[in-house]
Amino acid sequence: MSRNVVVVGGGPAGLAAAKSAVDAGARVTIIDSSDQLGGQFWRHLPPERAGADEARLHHDWQTYQRLHRRLTASPHCEIRTRTQIWAIETTPDGVLLTGVQGAPDARTEAPIQLHPDALVLATGAHDRTLPFPGWTLPGVYTAGAAQAFAKAERVALGRRVLVAGAGPFLLPVTESLVKTGAKVVAVLEANRPRNLARWLATAPWKLAGKAGELTHYVGTHLRHRVPYRPGRAVVAAHGDDRVEAVTVARVDANWKPIPGTEKRYAVDAVCVSHGFTPRLELAVAAGCRLTADRFVRVDDAQQTTVRGVYAAGEITGIGGKDAALAEGAIAGHCAAGGDTTDAVIQPAVRRRRTMGAFSRRLDAAHGIRPGWTGWLTDDTILCRCEESRVGTVRRTVAATGSVSLRSTKLTTRVGLGICQARICGRNVEDYLGQLGDRVPAGDASSDHRPIVSPVRLGDIARLADPDTPTTP
Ligand SMILES: Cc1cc2nc3c(=O)[nH]c(=O)nc-3n(C[C@H](O)[C@H](O)[C@H](O)COP(=O)(O)OP(=O)(O)OC[C@H]3O[C@@H](n4cnc5c(N)ncnc54)[C@H](O)[C@@H]3O)c2cc1C
Repeated sequence: MSRNVVVVGGGPAGLAAAKSAVDAGARVTIIDSSDQLGGQFWRHLPPERAGADEARLHHDWQTYQRLHRRLTASPHCEIRTRTQIWAIETTPDGVLLTGVQGAPDARTEAPIQLHPDALVLATGAHDRTLPFPGWTLPGVYTAGAAQAFAKAERVALGRRVLVAGAGPFLLPVTESLVKTGAKVVAVLEANRPRNLARWLATAPWKLAGKAGELTHYVGTHLRHRVPYRPGRAVVAAHGDDRVEAVTVARVDANWKPIPGTEKRYAVDAVCVSHGFTPRLELAVAAGCRLTADRFVRVDDAQQTTVRGVYAAGEITGIGGKDAALAEGAIAGHCAAGGDTTDAVIQPAVRRRRTMGAFSRRLDAAHGIRPGWTGWLTDDTILCRCEESRVGTVRRTVAATGSVSLRSTKLTTRVGLGICQARICGRNVEDYLGQLGDRVPAGDASSDHRPIVSPVRLGDIARLADPDTPTTP
């Protein structure tokens, strides 16, 4: 009998996993909390404002269409969008997924439970922004938000925009901003020219075919006269009720601001991202082990340390869309009962190898350096949900003598707000790590979130209802 495979996540990794599992003969359910499949990379215009040219601002839209066509055409694939998985348990018979399906807060919203033979987790990442004085002012956005607005709404988040942070993601964001009508006054990359040059100059053939994409972005910068300034960071945003200006400083190789190099830019929006944080909640709840740099640990078949649970895409390492597609294809194939030596999966195996090297180079060139805490002031908000400030955390650590995340959360409420430390968790952990090196063994981790998203008590109560369907 064919295997029943559930894929959580409908981005590049999840789409590729679902297709490859269907191709290998499995019955597949692909789940995503969004209205449509595509993930962070392929976003859609809302149906009520559909546009003739949905592919605009997208790269490789034809791959999305090909994957989507295959899944919608297959009688063995069920697509469940607007479905949020909020818990996962391991039982003696495998994993049990619990979620809700339907428009949020709609009367039609219904609890669901799924008990697959194999599970592929492809839950992606969200962008990480380091705090700086003024970063909670309206008009300061993550670069991911700017990209989402451009792709899914065709809206530029400001007229005079500064893009800053670290990583190649700043390049497509800049392109989307200028194409939706914004003037981008500069793009600031915190890493210094030497670091970036090493990345590009050492064995450029190992750029995994990304050179063409890079040339395209350089062309956009030149055509729109957008200055690209490495070795600089936004160290403060200013304004009364929204951002009106930012202070930018040169930073050293460790991202420590260099005094006397400050410069002010007048802007009405600033888009900042310093990389991505994997969405690990479901994997952690399932008991999957993580790597030292805190991604889901997988073997050659993309299987995690929990039997029957596979992982692909940004939760296993930040490598971009092409790595996500390759890993997804392998995970789906193996979850359906295939093997990594099967001929059909060899192109994906080769692509994964190349993309793995690419993502290691990305991290070496663009990874976060510890000097960023040098631009914090005591008044800077660390946790925006609870408005906990740097000074409060610093003084608490001095008073308690403990840099434990658990104890800091309880004494300052940092990380305890509505986002449950999704935004601030890694930043708080890094900051605590710099205040002292005696993190107690078995301390809390900001990745541990047994209930993944807010859920109504009614939905939990309805799980006890014998009419709630549990899909095998
Ligand atoms: C805001 C944002 C914008 C980005 N835009 C670009 C871009 O323009 N260009 C670029 O090169 N890279 C972009 N990236 C990087 C991008 O994430 C990856 O390159 C690529 O999309 C990774 O694919 P993935 O399948 O691993 O994850 P994703 O594309 O992130 O897909 C994961 C999917 O899982 C779903 N999901 C997660 N948890 C659950 C759950 N519990 N229940 C149900 N569904 C769930 C999410 O809704 C999402 O659709 C962006 C990242 C972010 C955060």
